Amino acid sequence: MGKRLKFQEMMNFVRQSLEKAPDYRKGQNTQYEIADAGLSAFSVFYTQAPSFLAHQRDMQERKGQSNAQSLFEMETIPSDGQIRNLLDPVEPSYLRAPFWQVYEGLQAGKYLEYYRSVGGTLLCSFDGTQYFSSKKINCPNCTVRVRKGEEAYSHTVLAAVLVAPGKEHVLALEPEFITPQDEHDKQDCEQQAIKRWMKRNAQRFEPWQVTAMTDDLHSHQPLCTLLTENKMHFIMTCKEDSHQALYQEVELLTRVEGAVQTMTTSRWTGRYREEWTYRWVEQVPVRAGTKALHVNWCEITIVREDTGKQIYHNAWITSHKLTAKTVPEVVAAGRAHWKVENENFNVLKNRGYNFEHNYGHGKQHLSTVLLTLLLLAFLFHTVLHLSCLVYQAIRQALVTRRTFFNDLRALTRYLHFSGWDELLAFMYRQLELPPL
Ligand SMILES: [Zn+2]
Repeated sequence: MGKRLKFQEMMNFVRQSLEKAPDYRKGQNTQYEIADAGLSAFSVFYTQAPSFLAHQRDMQERKGQSNAQSLFEMETIPSDGQIRNLLDPVEPSYLRAPFWQVYEGLQAGKYLEYYRSVGGTLLCSFDGTQYFSSKKINCPNCTVRVRKGEEAYSHTVLAAVLVAPGKEHVLALEPEFITPQDEHDKQDCEQQAIKRWMKRNAQRFEPWQVTAMTDDLHSHQPLCTLLTENKMHFIMTCKEDSHQALYQEVELLTRVEGAVQTMTTSRWTGRYREEWTYRWVEQVPVRAGTKALHVNWCEITIVREDTGKQIYHNAWITSHKLTAKTVPEVVAAGRAHWKVENENFNVLKNRGYNFEHNYGHGKQHLSTVLLTLLLLAFLFHTVLHLSCLVYQAIRQALVTRRTFFNDLRALTRYLHFSGWDELLAFMYRQLELPPL
């Protein structure tokens, strides 16, 4: 194992990025800096404590110092109103760098090796999710839809996360935001967002070292071409009703002996036996017409042996070579795509990140900047999980995520810590955990 990324180091990535954002304020009231405002919002997401800043302001008065400075690299603690005003004009692009600095740190520490999958590639799942909607609150960056004569406002993010079969945690990469300039059709919006993401980031990866994964919405010729041009592999869900030409070809080929390969394996679940049937074929047209791109296709059907009931079925198109050896890997990778939903969006929405904290929506970029900071907080938690043995031991001893964050809230309210490592060391000692 290589060098691990220190929390304080990661906080400095965020601070340095925010310091580059231009400050448009003129004259007075420049006591607080944009960096402090950004780190303040980040600290609330990271500690999952809506009252974290209020408690640190109290501590500052009582003790002349606070955890806001020592844990989160802030110089002063702005009020919620100031945080809102300072962050609203900041373009979220200023916060892209820390995602890649962390990625490079994980790569240097060899932590990404655990995420390598089919053909030694990293699996990068792309998926859009709406993270804000309202009939009243809005900003110029809202997507506006008219339903029954009423305007509805929303924000959607296209998340890019690294996933791996058997790995609980997903690693967030730089997100892309769907903007009102994009076409209003869902597919077009997300397609444009993926294009922008690729244009900015594809060259960060070694050629053919990443497999992009998407749902059926994107598994069409334009994205296959875009990915191939950017030297990326793909595994994308392929439903029959949206790929009729492809399925007609597969159907025709089933009549040719040996054209469609089949393999069946069996697994004992501990309660009953399952039959896994793989089918695959190479070089089928992704759509109708003479200019259709040819792709490889595979499917899996899982049936419970005792009842004959189908438990699972899914199919994908891919650029990876399909053989009896690689098909199970491609299928396992394709099935890991759901983690973008389960381990990413659900965690963000339901596990205490306080995204709806009272900073408000803003008139320019506030909503987007806050979501980016929240994604960074989520990423930093994941990095700790992957690389910090002390943190892993504490989390295991405390059993639930909630207990850990409750303790964190209480500890940082009453005690001052000189840094994150000292805080974790304190918890580790007090829990009487065995020496590492
Ligand atoms: Zn808005």
